[in-house]
Amino acid sequence: MEPGLKTAAQNTKNSKKLLNNYSRYPVEFKFGNGKFLFDSNGKKYYDFLSGIAVTSFGHNHPDIKLAVQKQFDSLWHTSNLFESNGQEELAEKLAGKSGLDNVFFSNSGAEANEAAIKFARMWGKGRFHIVSAFGSFHGRTFGGISASGQEKLWKGFKPLLPGFSYVEFGVIDEIEKAITENTVAVMLETIQGEGGVKISPKGYIKNVRELCSNKNILLIIDEIQTGFGRTGKFFSYQHEEILPDIVTAAKGIANGLPLGATLCTKEIGDLMVPGTHGSTFGGNPVAVAAGNVVADLLTEEMLSGISELGQIFLAELNEIKSPFIKEVRGKGLMIGIELEKSISAKTMASKLLEKGIICGTGGQNVLRILPPFIITKEDILIFAETLQKVLDEVSQGNK
Ligand SMILES: *Cc1c(COP(=O)(O)O)cnc(C)c1O
Repeated sequence: MEPGLKTAAQNTKNSKKLLNNYSRYPVEFKFGNGKFLFDSNGKKYYDFLSGIAVTSFGHNHPDIKLAVQKQFDSLWHTSNLFESNGQEELAEKLAGKSGLDNVFFSNSGAEANEAAIKFARMWGKGRFHIVSAFGSFHGRTFGGISASGQEKLWKGFKPLLPGFSYVEFGVIDEIEKAITENTVAVMLETIQGEGGVKISPKGYIKNVRELCSNKNILLIIDEIQTGFGRTGKFFSYQHEEILPDIVTAAKGIANGLPLGATLCTKEIGDLMVPGTHGSTFGGNPVAVAAGNVVADLLTEEMLSGISELGQIFLAELNEIKSPFIKEVRGKGLMIGIELEKSISAKTMASKLLEKGIICGTGGQNVLRILPPFIITKEDILIFAETLQKVLDEVSQGNK
Protein backbone atom coordinates (compact mmCIF):
# COMPACT_ATOMS: atom_id res chain seq x y z
CA MET A 1 0.00 0.00 0.00
CA GLU A 2 1.36 3.39 -0.98
CA PRO A 3 1.31 5.88 1.89
CA GLY A 4 -1.61 8.22 2.32
CA LEU A 5 -4.04 6.40 0.09
CA LYS A 6 -7.15 4.73 1.39
CA THR A 7 -6.89 0.98 1.68
CA ALA A 8 -8.71 -1.16 -0.82
CA ALA A 9 -11.05 -2.29 1.97
CA GLN A 10 -12.26 1.26 2.51
CA ASN A 11 -13.11 1.73 -1.11
CA THR A 12 -14.23 -1.60 -2.44
CA LYS A 13 -15.87 -4.77 -1.23
CA ASN A 14 -12.34 -6.15 -1.28
CA SER A 15 -13.48 -9.47 -2.69
CA LYS A 16 -10.76 -11.96 -3.47
CA LYS A 17 -12.62 -13.39 -6.45
CA LEU A 18 -11.16 -11.06 -9.04
CA LEU A 19 -7.93 -12.43 -10.53
CA ASN A 20 -5.04 -10.69 -8.84
CA ASN A 21 -3.17 -9.93 -12.09
CA TYR A 22 -3.12 -6.14 -11.73
CA SER A 23 -1.48 -4.02 -9.10
CA ARG A 24 -4.40 -1.62 -8.64
CA TYR A 25 -4.50 1.73 -6.91
CA PRO A 26 -7.11 1.69 -4.14
CA VAL A 27 -9.28 4.23 -5.91
CA GLU A 28 -12.44 3.65 -7.91
CA PHE A 29 -13.68 6.27 -10.31
CA LYS A 30 -17.41 6.71 -10.55
CA PHE A 31 -17.79 9.57 -12.96
CA GLY A 32 -15.79 11.26 -15.67
CA ASN A 33 -16.21 14.57 -17.38
CA GLY A 34 -13.74 15.92 -19.91
CA LYS A 35 -10.27 15.90 -18.33
CA PHE A 36 -11.63 15.13 -14.85
CA LEU A 37 -12.45 11.94 -13.00
CA PHE A 38 -14.30 11.68 -9.70
CA ASP A 39 -13.80 8.86 -7.21
CA SER A 40 -16.33 7.15 -4.95
CA ASN A 41 -15.76 9.81 -2.29
CA GLY A 42 -16.44 12.60 -4.77
CA LYS A 43 -12.78 13.66 -4.93
CA LYS A 44 -11.81 15.25 -8.23
CA TYR A 45 -8.74 14.18 -10.21
CA TYR A 46 -7.01 15.48 -13.31
CA ASP A 47 -6.76 12.63 -15.80
CA PHE A 48 -3.27 12.86 -17.28
CA LEU A 49 -3.33 9.22 -18.38
CA SER A 50 -6.53 8.92 -20.49
CA GLY A 51 -7.12 5.30 -19.51
CA ILE A 52 -3.76 4.44 -20.99
CA ALA A 53 -3.79 6.62 -24.10
CA VAL A 54 -7.40 5.57 -24.72
CA THR A 55 -9.85 8.33 -23.80
CA SER A 56 -7.95 10.91 -25.85
CA PHE A 57 -10.91 13.26 -26.16
CA GLY A 58 -11.75 13.10 -22.49
CA HIS A 59 -14.63 11.49 -20.66
CA ASN A 60 -18.21 11.92 -21.74
CA HIS A 61 -17.30 13.75 -24.94
CA PRO A 62 -20.64 15.10 -26.22
CA ASP A 63 -20.21 14.25 -29.94
CA ILE A 64 -18.86 10.77 -29.27
CA LYS A 65 -21.54 10.11 -26.68
CA LEU A 66 -24.29 11.19 -29.06
CA ALA A 67 -23.07 8.86 -31.83
CA VAL A 68 -22.74 5.96 -29.39
CA GLN A 69 -26.18 6.58 -27.89
CA LYS A 70 -27.73 6.69 -31.33
CA GLN A 71 -26.15 3.39 -32.31
CA PHE A 72 -26.97 1.88 -28.92
CA ASP A 73 -30.62 2.72 -29.38
CA SER A 74 -30.82 1.11 -32.81
CA LEU A 75 -28.51 -1.93 -32.93
CA TRP A 76 -25.75 -3.41 -30.73
CA HIS A 77 -24.46 -6.27 -32.76
CA THR A 78 -24.71 -8.16 -35.98
CA SER A 79 -22.20 -10.77 -37.01
CA ASN A 80 -19.59 -9.97 -39.60
CA LEU A 81 -21.57 -12.17 -42.02
CA PHE A 82 -23.54 -9.04 -42.91
CA GLU A 83 -22.67 -5.68 -44.34
CA SER A 84 -21.73 -2.86 -42.01
CA ASN A 85 -21.95 0.71 -43.19
CA GLY A 86 -20.20 1.98 -40.07
CA GLN A 87 -17.20 -0.30 -40.68
CA GLU A 88 -17.06 0.70 -44.36
CA GLU A 89 -17.13 4.34 -43.42
CA LEU A 90 -14.39 4.03 -40.80
CA ALA A 91 -12.24 1.84 -43.08
CA GLU A 92 -12.54 4.50 -45.77
CA LYS A 93 -11.41 7.20 -43.31
CA LEU A 94 -8.50 5.15 -41.95
CA ALA A 95 -7.31 4.24 -45.43
CA GLY A 96 -7.39 7.92 -46.30
CA LYS A 97 -5.50 8.96 -43.17
CA SER A 98 -2.90 6.18 -43.35
CA GLY A 99 -2.23 5.79 -47.06
CA LEU A 100 -2.95 2.05 -46.80
CA ASP A 101 -5.66 0.12 -48.67
CA ASN A 102 -7.45 -2.40 -46.47
CA VAL A 103 -8.66 -2.44 -42.87
CA PHE A 104 -9.57 -5.36 -40.59
CA PHE A 105 -11.40 -4.55 -37.33
CA SER A 106 -10.90 -6.43 -34.08
CA ASN A 107 -11.43 -5.51 -30.42
CA SER A 108 -8.02 -4.72 -28.99
CA GLY A 109 -4.39 -4.00 -29.62
CA ALA A 110 -3.20 -7.54 -29.08
CA GLU A 111 -5.77 -8.80 -31.58
CA ALA A 112 -4.72 -6.17 -34.09
CA ASN A 113 -1.13 -7.44 -33.77
CA GLU A 114 -2.21 -11.09 -34.02
CA ALA A 115 -3.85 -10.21 -37.32
CA ALA A 116 -0.70 -8.40 -38.44
CA ILE A 117 1.42 -11.49 -37.73
CA LYS A 118 -1.01 -13.71 -39.65
CA PHE A 119 -1.12 -11.26 -42.58
CA ALA A 120 2.68 -11.21 -42.71
CA ARG A 121 2.97 -15.00 -42.64
CA MET A 122 0.32 -15.33 -45.34
CA TRP A 123 2.22 -12.89 -47.51
CA GLY A 124 5.53 -14.65 -46.74
CA LYS A 125 4.37 -17.92 -48.31
CA GLY A 126 6.44 -19.99 -45.93
CA ARG A 127 8.77 -17.29 -44.60
CA PHE A 128 7.80 -16.50 -41.02
CA HIS A 129 10.69 -14.94 -39.11
CA ILE A 130 9.87 -11.52 -37.64
CA VAL A 131 12.46 -9.14 -36.20
CA SER A 132 11.31 -6.89 -33.37
CA ALA A 133 13.00 -4.75 -30.76
CA PHE A 134 14.11 -5.33 -27.21
CA GLY A 135 11.96 -3.30 -24.85
CA SER A 136 8.98 -3.43 -27.19
CA PHE A 137 5.42 -4.16 -26.15
CA HIS A 138 2.96 -5.73 -28.57
CA GLY A 139 0.29 -7.19 -26.28
CA ARG A 140 -0.41 -10.13 -23.99
CA THR A 141 -1.57 -12.88 -26.34
CA PHE A 142 0.98 -15.49 -27.45
CA GLY A 143 1.64 -13.62 -30.67
CA GLY A 144 1.87 -10.41 -28.68
CA ILE A 145 4.32 -11.60 -26.05
CA SER A 146 6.36 -13.48 -28.64
CA ALA A 147 6.71 -10.28 -30.64
CA SER A 148 7.59 -8.29 -27.50
CA GLY A 149 11.28 -8.14 -26.64
CA GLN A 150 10.84 -8.28 -22.87
CA GLU A 151 11.84 -11.25 -20.74
CA LYS A 152 9.38 -10.32 -17.98
CA LEU A 153 6.42 -10.90 -20.34
CA TRP A 154 7.60 -14.43 -21.18
CA LYS A 155 8.34 -15.70 -17.68
CA GLY A 156 6.30 -18.84 -16.98
CA PHE A 157 4.74 -19.01 -20.44
CA LYS A 158 7.35 -20.58 -22.70
CA PRO A 159 7.49 -21.95 -25.32
CA LEU A 160 6.61 -18.83 -27.27
CA LEU A 161 5.34 -18.65 -30.83
CA PRO A 162 8.37 -19.60 -32.95
CA GLY A 163 10.06 -17.27 -35.39
CA PHE A 164 10.80 -14.08 -33.46
CA SER A 165 14.13 -12.48 -32.73
CA TYR A 166 14.96 -9.20 -31.08
CA VAL A 167 17.43 -6.43 -31.71
CA GLU A 168 18.47 -3.25 -29.93
CA PHE A 169 15.87 -0.54 -30.54
CA GLY A 170 17.05 2.35 -32.68
CA VAL A 171 20.06 0.66 -34.29
CA ILE A 172 19.56 -0.04 -38.00
CA ASP A 173 22.63 -2.29 -38.39
CA GLU A 174 21.22 -4.66 -35.79
CA ILE A 175 18.15 -5.24 -37.93
CA GLU A 176 20.24 -5.84 -41.02
CA LYS A 177 22.29 -8.45 -39.16
CA ALA A 178 19.16 -10.20 -37.86
CA ILE A 179 17.55 -10.64 -41.29
CA THR A 180 17.74 -14.17 -42.74
CA GLU A 181 16.24 -15.93 -45.78
CA ASN A 182 13.29 -16.79 -43.57
CA THR A 183 12.59 -13.20 -42.48
CA VAL A 184 9.18 -11.92 -43.50
CA ALA A 185 8.84 -8.70 -41.48
CA VAL A 186 10.26 -6.15 -39.09
CA MET A 187 7.79 -5.11 -36.39
CA LEU A 188 8.36 -1.91 -34.42
CA GLU A 189 6.85 0.87 -32.36
CA THR A 190 8.17 4.30 -33.35
CA ILE A 191 8.14 5.21 -29.66
CA GLN A 192 8.24 2.42 -27.11
CA GLY A 193 5.39 3.32 -24.78
CA GLU A 194 5.18 0.59 -22.14
CA GLY A 195 8.95 0.32 -22.47
CA GLY A 196 9.34 3.82 -21.00
CA VAL A 197 8.53 6.37 -23.72
CA LYS A 198 11.70 5.60 -25.67
CA ILE A 199 11.72 7.63 -28.87
CA SER A 200 13.49 6.11 -31.86
CA PRO A 201 16.31 8.25 -33.23
CA LYS A 202 15.41 10.55 -36.10
CA GLY A 203 15.71 8.75 -39.43
CA TYR A 204 15.59 5.26 -37.88
CA ILE A 205 12.09 4.38 -39.06
CA LYS A 206 12.86 5.77 -42.51
CA ASN A 207 16.03 3.68 -42.70
CA VAL A 208 14.15 0.58 -41.58
CA ARG A 209 11.59 1.24 -44.31
CA GLU A 210 14.34 1.40 -46.90
CA LEU A 211 16.02 -1.73 -45.59
CA CYS A 212 12.74 -3.67 -45.65
CA SER A 213 12.01 -2.60 -49.21
CA ASN A 214 15.50 -3.59 -50.33
CA LYS A 215 15.26 -7.00 -48.69
CA ASN A 216 11.66 -7.60 -49.82
CA ILE A 217 10.30 -7.88 -46.30
CA LEU A 218 7.36 -6.15 -44.68
CA LEU A 219 7.46 -3.27 -42.24
CA ILE A 220 4.83 -3.58 -39.51
CA ILE A 221 4.38 -0.48 -37.36
CA ASP A 222 2.53 -0.92 -34.08
CA GLU A 223 0.66 2.37 -33.67
CA ILE A 224 -1.54 1.09 -30.86
CA GLN A 225 -0.26 3.70 -28.42
CA THR A 226 1.28 6.26 -30.77
CA GLY A 227 -1.59 6.38 -33.28
CA PHE A 228 -4.76 8.43 -33.43
CA GLY A 229 -3.11 11.77 -32.90
CA ARG A 230 -1.16 10.96 -29.74
CA THR A 231 2.18 12.23 -31.11
CA GLY A 232 0.77 15.13 -33.14
CA LYS A 233 0.33 13.21 -36.40
CA PHE A 234 -2.57 10.89 -37.15
CA PHE A 235 -0.04 8.02 -37.15
CA SER A 236 3.45 8.53 -35.76
CA TYR A 237 5.23 7.05 -38.81
CA GLN A 238 3.99 10.13 -40.66
CA HIS A 239 6.66 12.17 -38.82
CA GLU A 240 9.15 10.39 -41.08
CA GLU A 241 6.98 10.47 -44.19
CA ILE A 242 7.11 6.76 -44.83
CA LEU A 243 4.44 4.17 -45.56
CA PRO A 244 4.56 0.86 -43.66
CA ASP A 245 3.08 -2.32 -45.18
CA ILE A 246 1.00 -3.10 -42.09
CA VAL A 247 -0.13 -0.76 -39.31
CA THR A 248 -1.92 -1.76 -36.12
CA ALA A 249 -4.10 0.55 -34.05
CA ALA A 250 -6.35 0.34 -30.99
CA LYS A 251 -6.21 2.34 -27.71
CA GLY A 252 -7.30 5.85 -28.80
CA ILE A 253 -9.33 4.63 -31.78
CA ALA A 254 -12.79 4.73 -30.15
CA ASN A 255 -12.20 6.89 -27.05
CA GLY A 256 -12.68 4.00 -24.64
CA LEU A 257 -14.82 1.46 -26.42
CA PRO A 258 -13.05 -1.75 -27.45
CA LEU A 259 -11.85 -1.59 -31.03
CA GLY A 260 -8.69 -2.61 -32.84
CA ALA A 261 -7.66 -2.18 -36.46
CA THR A 262 -5.08 -3.78 -38.71
CA LEU A 263 -4.34 -1.80 -41.86
CA CYS A 264 -2.42 -3.16 -44.83
CA THR A 265 -1.55 -2.71 -48.47
CA LYS A 266 -3.77 -4.16 -51.19
CA GLU A 267 -1.11 -6.73 -52.03
CA ILE A 268 -1.38 -8.17 -48.52
CA GLY A 269 -5.11 -7.55 -48.17
CA ASP A 270 -5.87 -9.48 -51.36
CA LEU A 271 -4.47 -12.63 -49.74
CA MET A 272 -6.80 -12.48 -46.74
CA VAL A 273 -9.79 -14.03 -48.45
CA PRO A 274 -12.93 -15.36 -46.68
CA GLY A 275 -12.00 -18.07 -44.20
CA THR A 276 -8.48 -16.83 -43.44
CA HIS A 277 -9.26 -14.62 -40.45
CA GLY A 278 -12.18 -13.20 -38.49
CA SER A 279 -13.65 -12.10 -35.19
CA THR A 280 -17.09 -12.44 -33.61
CA PHE A 281 -17.09 -9.08 -31.90
CA GLY A 282 -14.55 -7.25 -34.06
CA GLY A 283 -15.81 -3.99 -35.51
CA ASN A 284 -18.78 -3.85 -33.15
CA PRO A 285 -21.24 -1.20 -34.41
CA VAL A 286 -21.23 0.76 -31.13
CA ALA A 287 -17.42 0.96 -30.94
CA VAL A 288 -17.25 1.76 -34.64
CA ALA A 289 -19.74 4.62 -34.18
CA ALA A 290 -17.35 6.11 -31.62
CA GLY A 291 -14.39 5.47 -33.93
CA ASN A 292 -16.04 7.35 -36.76
CA VAL A 293 -16.40 10.47 -34.60
CA VAL A 294 -12.84 10.18 -33.26
CA ALA A 295 -11.45 9.99 -36.81
CA ASP A 296 -13.42 13.13 -37.75
CA LEU A 297 -12.26 15.01 -34.65
CA LEU A 298 -8.61 14.45 -35.58
CA THR A 299 -8.35 17.31 -38.04
CA GLU A 300 -5.04 18.87 -39.10
CA GLU A 301 -5.81 21.73 -36.75
CA MET A 302 -6.34 19.32 -33.85
CA LEU A 303 -3.07 17.54 -34.68
CA SER A 304 -1.03 20.74 -34.73
CA GLY A 305 -2.69 21.75 -31.45
CA ILE A 306 -1.50 18.46 -29.94
CA SER A 307 2.07 19.13 -31.13
CA GLU A 308 1.95 22.62 -29.67
CA LEU A 309 0.62 21.46 -26.30
CA GLY A 310 3.32 18.79 -26.27
CA GLN A 311 6.04 21.40 -26.70
CA ILE A 312 4.58 23.55 -23.94
CA PHE A 313 4.42 20.48 -21.71
CA LEU A 314 8.06 19.59 -22.34
CA ALA A 315 9.14 23.19 -21.77
CA GLU A 316 7.31 23.35 -18.43
CA LEU A 317 8.70 20.01 -17.30
CA ASN A 318 12.19 21.16 -18.19
CA GLU A 319 11.73 24.07 -15.79
CA ILE A 320 11.29 21.70 -12.87
CA LYS A 321 14.28 21.62 -10.59
CA SER A 322 14.85 18.34 -8.85
CA PRO A 323 17.77 15.94 -8.42
CA PHE A 324 15.28 13.12 -9.05
CA ILE A 325 14.63 13.97 -12.70
CA LYS A 326 17.06 12.37 -15.12
CA GLU A 327 15.42 13.24 -18.43
CA VAL A 328 12.21 14.60 -19.88
CA ARG A 329 11.22 13.47 -23.38
CA GLY A 330 8.18 13.18 -25.57
CA LYS A 331 6.43 13.75 -28.85
CA GLY A 332 3.04 15.42 -28.96
CA LEU A 333 1.12 14.39 -25.87
CA MET A 334 3.11 11.21 -25.27
CA ILE A 335 5.54 12.23 -22.57
CA GLY A 336 7.99 10.43 -20.33
CA ILE A 337 9.81 11.71 -17.26
CA GLU A 338 12.74 9.47 -16.48
CA LEU A 339 13.50 9.47 -12.78
CA GLU A 340 16.75 8.65 -11.03
CA LYS A 341 17.06 5.07 -9.83
CA SER A 342 16.65 6.19 -6.20
CA ILE A 343 12.92 6.75 -6.64
CA SER A 344 10.39 4.44 -8.30
CA ALA A 345 7.92 5.75 -10.86
CA LYS A 346 5.13 3.86 -9.11
CA THR A 347 5.84 5.70 -5.84
CA MET A 348 5.77 9.04 -7.65
CA ALA A 349 2.54 8.16 -9.47
CA SER A 350 0.97 7.27 -6.11
CA LYS A 351 2.05 10.58 -4.58
CA LEU A 352 0.62 12.48 -7.53
CA LEU A 353 -2.60 10.50 -7.25
CA GLU A 354 -2.93 11.62 -3.63
CA LYS A 355 -2.71 15.18 -4.91
CA GLY A 356 -5.43 14.54 -7.46
CA ILE A 357 -3.31 13.90 -10.54
CA ILE A 358 -3.47 10.66 -12.49
CA CYS A 359 -0.47 9.63 -14.52
CA GLY A 360 1.10 6.33 -15.49
CA THR A 361 4.45 4.60 -15.46
CA GLY A 362 6.58 2.94 -18.12
CA GLY A 363 9.21 0.49 -17.02
CA GLN A 364 10.68 0.91 -13.53
CA ASN A 365 11.59 4.55 -13.49
CA VAL A 366 9.64 6.49 -16.08
CA LEU A 367 6.52 8.51 -15.33
CA ARG A 368 4.27 8.27 -18.37
CA ILE A 369 1.99 11.17 -19.17
CA LEU A 370 -0.71 10.66 -21.78
CA PRO A 371 -3.17 13.49 -21.22
CA PRO A 372 -6.37 13.99 -23.19
CA PHE A 373 -6.03 16.31 -26.19
CA ILE A 374 -8.49 18.75 -24.56
CA ILE A 375 -6.07 19.94 -21.87
CA THR A 376 -4.99 23.56 -21.80
CA LYS A 377 -1.78 25.38 -20.93
CA GLU A 378 -3.24 26.05 -17.46
CA ASP A 379 -3.68 22.32 -16.86
CA ILE A 380 -0.07 21.77 -17.87
CA LEU A 381 1.05 24.41 -15.36
CA ILE A 382 -0.97 22.71 -12.63
CA PHE A 383 0.68 19.40 -13.47
CA ALA A 384 4.17 20.93 -13.43
CA GLU A 385 3.56 22.77 -10.14
CA THR A 386 2.18 19.67 -8.47
CA LEU A 387 5.06 17.55 -9.68
CA GLN A 388 7.57 20.13 -8.43
CA LYS A 389 5.84 20.12 -5.04
CA VAL A 390 5.85 16.33 -4.78
CA LEU A 391 9.52 16.16 -5.79
CA ASP A 392 10.40 18.81 -3.19
CA GLU A 393 8.56 16.86 -0.52
CA VAL A 394 10.44 13.72 -1.47
CA SER A 395 13.73 15.64 -1.26
CA GLN A 396 12.87 16.89 2.19
CA GLY A 397 12.22 13.32 3.20
CA ASN A 398 8.63 13.88 4.28
CA LYS A 399 5.89 12.56 2.08
C1 LIG B 1 -1.36 -1.35 -25.28
C2 LIG B 1 -0.51 -1.82 -26.40
C3 LIG B 1 -0.73 -3.07 -27.01
C4 LIG B 1 -1.78 -4.04 -26.51
O1 LIG B 1 -3.07 -3.55 -26.63
P1 LIG B 1 -4.27 -4.29 -25.85
O2 LIG B 1 -5.49 -3.55 -26.29
O3 LIG B 1 -3.98 -4.14 -24.38
O4 LIG B 1 -4.26 -5.69 -26.26
C5 LIG B 1 0.07 -3.42 -28.07
N1 LIG B 1 1.03 -2.60 -28.53
C6 LIG B 1 1.26 -1.39 -27.97
C7 LIG B 1 2.32 -0.50 -28.54
C8 LIG B 1 0.51 -0.97 -26.88
O5 LIG B 1 0.77 0.21 -26.31
